[in-house]
Amino acid sequence: MIKYFFTLVFSWLSFYGFAGEGMWIPLLLENRTIADMQAAGLKLSAADIYSINQACLKDAVVMFGKGCTGELISPGGLLITNHHCGYGRIQAHSTVEKDYLTDGFWAYSRSEELPNPGLTVSFLVRIEDVTEKALQGVLPDMSEKQRNEVMKLNSAEIISEAVKNTHYEAEIESFFFGSDYFLFVYEVFKDIRLVGAPPSAIGKFGGDTDNWIWPRHTGDFSLFRIYAGKDNKPAPFDTANVPYRPKKYLTLSAQGIHEGDFTMVLGYPAKTDEYLYSGGLKIVTGDILPAKIKMREERLKIMQEEMSKSPAVKLQYAGKYQGAGNAWKKWIGIIDGVQRTDAVNKKIQQELMLTDTALSEPCRIKYFEPVLRRLDDFYAENRVGILASDLGHEALSSFETALFASNFDNKALMAAYDTCDRQVMKDQLRNMADGFFKNVNLNIDRKTMAGILRIYFESVDPLYYPEIYPTIQDRFDGEVNAYVDWLFRKSIFTDPGKTYKIIDHFSPRAVKKLLSDPFSRFYQSFSDVVVSYYPVSDSLDLELQRLYRDYVSGLMATDTNRVYYPDANFTMRIAYGKVEGYKAADAITYDYHTTATGILEKEDPEIADYTVDEKLRLLLEHKDFGRYGPDATLPVCFIASNHTSGGNSGSPVLDKEGRLIGINFDRNWEGTVSDYEYDPAVCRNISLDIRYVLFILEKYAGAFNILQELTIE
Ligand code: ASP
Repeated sequence: MIKYFFTLVFSWLSFYGFAGEGMWIPLLLENRTIADMQAAGLKLSAADIYSINQACLKDAVVMFGKGCTGELISPGGLLITNHHCGYGRIQAHSTVEKDYLTDGFWAYSRSEELPNPGLTVSFLVRIEDVTEKALQGVLPDMSEKQRNEVMKLNSAEIISEAVKNTHYEAEIESFFFGSDYFLFVYEVFKDIRLVGAPPSAIGKFGGDTDNWIWPRHTGDFSLFRIYAGKDNKPAPFDTANVPYRPKKYLTLSAQGIHEGDFTMVLGYPAKTDEYLYSGGLKIVTGDILPAKIKMREERLKIMQEEMSKSPAVKLQYAGKYQGAGNAWKKWIGIIDGVQRTDAVNKKIQQELMLTDTALSEPCRIKYFEPVLRRLDDFYAENRVGILASDLGHEALSSFETALFASNFDNKALMAAYDTCDRQVMKDQLRNMADGFFKNVNLNIDRKTMAGILRIYFESVDPLYYPEIYPTIQDRFDGEVNAYVDWLFRKSIFTDPGKTYKIIDHFSPRAVKKLLSDPFSRFYQSFSDVVVSYYPVSDSLDLELQRLYRDYVSGLMATDTNRVYYPDANFTMRIAYGKVEGYKAADAITYDYHTTATGILEKEDPEIADYTVDEKLRLLLEHKDFGRYGPDATLPVCFIASNHTSGGNSGSPVLDKEGRLIGINFDRNWEGTVSDYEYDPAVCRNISLDIRYVLFILEKYAGAFNILQELTIE
């Protein structure tokens, strides 16, 4: 009976999809989703979107770096993504004298395009459902740990088989908490060059003030080109490389966007938690996010203070500030959205419904009652541990010197025991040190560390204080500041001279010294706390995986009105919806698009985020919109009900024919709750209208070399 039940519920691929909510796997569109998409207006077939036998839309969409999406828009390997996705690269090419973040950058010939070491672009070659192979040998009475071990061994084989005799890379991802496994094969390009970026006053117009906010007027795009070897295959950077010839590139539509139009987004959403149990969501929004918000505020304040004192520091920390501020503001939106949508109570209702329905069938209740009870207990028992672990992660990831010390130690340990590679390792250590000292401001790091440690100690149960804590009490009278000052004074990692000396005279004995460095000891002591508890602790994680697998299967069987799609996991997904405005609050209704008039309305010389670029202002004032401003208005951004998330930044927004109408770059604040609970009334993705991109290229930048590569309808 139970076996039958699971086969039934895990035919999740055939559940109905609704415009708006859902992030679908492109391989599985044939199962119902494509029919729903066509009913909503799509004119393409499933094979036009995903196929391994013909060029299709998936061949024009790439994973850009390790956290964004991009799309091919010319036969010469030209790629468009967000300005905020290219930000770090633009920053890396900038100096105080030649500041591309402030002034923008346009390559007017191929030879002016700028290489970006370390940046990769990955094409999805194919997806395969490997559930059966991955779970081969898994027996019903196996523990979750044994199940995982078998799955990992199988996966290693599947992957090596998949990439055999190719230059591809592959990975297997779990869906629905280990109920399904899919193989993703990628072709990864490594010679990616910067082609163009507007000044931040355009590409980041509205800045942090407008981030996550609608209405929006941000020209959030940048252009890169993929280079390949002469055989059109990935090759490391080489001046002899040639522009990549893609299987497919997108046609741009400058025909305009209207309310109600069908839209879809193909891209790489990174992480959602749509099936989080009520107890889990309560901890996230009641405990974890409020404390993390406090930590980020501290960090942002410190960065801001130092950045305002020096243009060099401002440039050095621009990317870090942007990244830290982005999540900070989203978290505030999520807490608000969870309250507004009453998401915790909605989840409780679903959980009760599952119990009620299960009660009517003795076999189900026997199965589900313990699952639900254990989930309740799990969150009650582990609340403080989960909080400590999450805050620990947040803290550690913002301590730059501590992270450097730990990475350096790991590499040094390898160098000490692997004599053949000693020279290579030394070079790597030197590179690591070069990167660290170039990018860090020790003053910012010191203040940040003291501030965040203080918040950590205030927020978590003393049970989760790191081993170093008694030292802070005894030797420094509990003064976190004094302890941190001492760390920075005593450590070799804060002194370039000492660090490079260790590298030059590297020996196994030096490693001993490194491991007893105060920063190494601090990192170890702190990460011990973090690693011991959820979500990193293997046993708790595994227990949760099993509980959630059972729980979601129960939901699917009992609540058939709900849409079921796997959580985002940075694999390619397709979302679809329509261009539409929304009602944000009582008497506040938002239109679906913005125009350049809003740029001038927002202009405020007192607020840096609302500084309008001089050349742009003249064009706007003279309504010099060229072909892109129908009826003397220039479209800038629009919103639609596509279900997107972080990682979808830079994704193509396509019309019913698969033509590029916009570049996805954000969500509205009211809608950030969609990572946990999609609310069709308010959840909207924000996109840059492709006509604004074309206007900037033609009228602002005069980049005709770029324009002539494009196919525009
Ligand atoms: N702007 C967002 C980001 O940077 C994209 C999104 O989450 O919708 O993560």
